Amino acid sequence: MASDQSWKEKYLRELELADIREQQWKVERNTLERMLVRTSLASEGQTPELDRLLAQVRKDLRKKSVDVDAWRELQEQIDRQVALLDELAAPENRERPEAPAVSPAPVSAKAGNVPGDDQDLADNTQRLRIARRIGQLLGQLLNSVTLEPAAEVRARALQQSLLSSNDWNELREGLNHVAELVIAAVTRSQREFEVFLKRLDERLEVLQEHFTEQSSAQTSRLSASEALDREIRQELERAGSDLRDSEDLQQLKASVSQHLSSIGQAMGRFREQETEREKALSEQLGVMQEKIAAMEAHSEQMQSEVRRERQRAMTDLLTQLPNREAWQERLSFEFNRWQRYQQALTIGVLDIDFFKRINDSYGHKAGDRVLQLVARELSERLRATDFIARFGGEEFVLLFPETTPDAAKVAMDKLRQHVGNLPFHFSGEPVRVTFSAGLAAVGQGDSEETVFDRADRALYLAKDDGRNRVQISAEQVGQ
Ligand code: GH3
Ligand code: MG
Ligand code: MG
Repeated sequence: MASDQSWKEKYLRELELADIREQQWKVERNTLERMLVRTSLASEGQTPELDRLLAQVRKDLRKKSVDVDAWRELQEQIDRQVALLDELAAPENRERPEAPAVSPAPVSAKAGNVPGDDQDLADNTQRLRIARRIGQLLGQLLNSVTLEPAAEVRARALQQSLLSSNDWNELREGLNHVAELVIAAVTRSQREFEVFLKRLDERLEVLQEHFTEQSSAQTSRLSASEALDREIRQELERAGSDLRDSEDLQQLKASVSQHLSSIGQAMGRFREQETEREKALSEQLGVMQEKIAAMEAHSEQMQSEVRRERQRAMTDLLTQLPNREAWQERLSFEFNRWQRYQQALTIGVLDIDFFKRINDSYGHKAGDRVLQLVARELSERLRATDFIARFGGEEFVLLFPETTPDAAKVAMDKLRQHVGNLPFHFSGEPVRVTFSAGLAAVGQGDSEETVFDRADRALYLAKDDGRNRVQISAEQVGQ
């Protein structure tokens, strides 16, 4: 039992110690890992390939377990890169036999060279060094140019093999491709540049067409647009010849931006001129508009003046009725209408009875007053389509469109009765005013004069018949 007890205690102590050892080991491993991560980060920035390998180290460190073979391989790759780096940094020391990291041993083994042949070994090392250097330069080139995606992938793979492969045949093949790639890169950027310039030229062409269209109306604009066009063309020609003559992309970039800024300045100047011109034009337009407005106002004034003048010329001053000129015009109008539509048209001639007596008894002013009042009463009582004018003295003429002489007589008799009943008073005495009228209808073969004369003769029949009456002409047309 005692030995059992001691065995058990021993076992437990061992277990405890193992735990402690494990804890210690973990702490140590952590510390080492952290140190490795920091060291790898501190070593970055030498070559892309070395960076990649260091990143791989950090990635592998994060894994729970360690793949010893993979680590060994990684370690060898890093050694090679460091050796390469040393050689590049100190080319005068590259032949140092004791430099351990430069050992080309794995290289020669893979390259299949005969070991022991010192000359071959040196040649191979030299070639590999050149290949690495080209790989680095290719990396730099790839970082500064844009290739088509497929070419980019090829180039990266090529760079990778230049940096890491030890197979000389593979490297020689790769070196041949580098030349192709460099040509492709330069051609591509040149082509991109040409495409860019072509597109720029097309856009400017459109712009120029726009300017030409815009300017076709204005000579000054045309010349400004031509000047702009000339400036732009010159800049483009210069850019084009620079493109042909120059082989340096940086120089080309600078040249293009120089031309673009010249074009920009030319366009700026053109815009300024345009703004000036537009301002001047809009001022001119403003002045013109004012002038037109003034002219319109004046013309309107003139027109209404003419209308008023014409109105005056057609109106009788005393009675404000249309005068003899107006009568003539209206008679012609209605006569033409009658000729076209052959609708009844009756003409009336009206004369105040014994008007001379009014003048003689109560004065000329009283006579005028009678003329004014009778004129007002007559015109107010006629239909809108009828027409009345003062023919002269105490004589009035009337037109009854679309009215037979009988119907016109009914209207005239009403007027006659109305006027006869107007309560005129002069010098305290009531005065009765009457009129007589003659009517005649327009007939086939009539003229304006013949129908008027018939109506006038009918008026005198009415006078002869005792006055204060309306007489329809019984005459035949043409008599
Ligand atoms: P009858 O009935 O035959 O027509 O006789 P009457 O007196 O009306 O005819 P007469 O032709 O003899 O006289 C017309 C008068 O009208 C003569 C003229 O002095 C007068 N007279 C003409 N025009 C005017 C005018 O504008 N104002 C005034 N107050 N009188 C006028
Ligand atoms: Mg008379
Ligand atoms: Mg009279």
